[in-house]
Amino acid sequence: MRIVLLGAPGSGKGTQAALLVEELGLPHISTGELLRSAAKAGTELGIKAKAVIDRGELVSDDIMRELIAERLSQADAKDGFILDGYPRNLSQARALDKLLSRIEQPVDEALQIDVDVDRIITRIARRAAEEGRSDDTEEVVRNRMNVYSDQTAPVVDYYAQQGLLTRILGEGSIEEVFQRIRGVLQMRTVS
Ligand code: AMP
Repeated sequence: MRIVLLGAPGSGKGTQAALLVEELGLPHISTGELLRSAAKAGTELGIKAKAVIDRGELVSDDIMRELIAERLSQADAKDGFILDGYPRNLSQARALDKLLSRIEQPVDEALQIDVDVDRIITRIARRAAEEGRSDDTEEVVRNRMNVYSDQTAPVVDYYAQQGLLTRILGEGSIEEVFQRIRGVLQMRTVS
């Protein structure tokens, strides 16, 4: 199963992806994580990306296309994956479709986790304290939210038009949200 997880920063995508990985045995592909580990490793791409991440902006589509193509070509992704953080704009959504149709493995399901903005701010503040991410400061978060509504929100409609989108209420406990996701995926597999 090839799943795309969508949602604003702090909507709980990463947490839910980790639970889905356990449930479905598929790799969790987080482009944010790929970029952060490249930055940590000090690769050329990582150093360039870090500056962009720290401003809360998007790394260029060309770099992201190469990064995702390389990751999806790895053996563990051949039976499916959970994509978290990609696509982030319409051009990336189209690039992903192209890439996946070339290997005849289209997206099966796009899940949008809906969370109220106030709750997002609280969650990110907590994450900032726990994980110390350099892009979780108030100013950068504000920028990331703007980038989300300007560039990423249209991706939701893109998948809706293809009949692939399900919206999940992201309120409640982690387990409650996960049960909603499970319900949706079970319906997809029986229908
Ligand atoms: P995330 O961990 O998904 O919140 O991503 C953290 C940061 O990495 C984002 O704010 C962007 O700067 C960068 N990033 C992650 N995924 C993408 C993507 N698909 N396109 C461009 N930039 C990305």
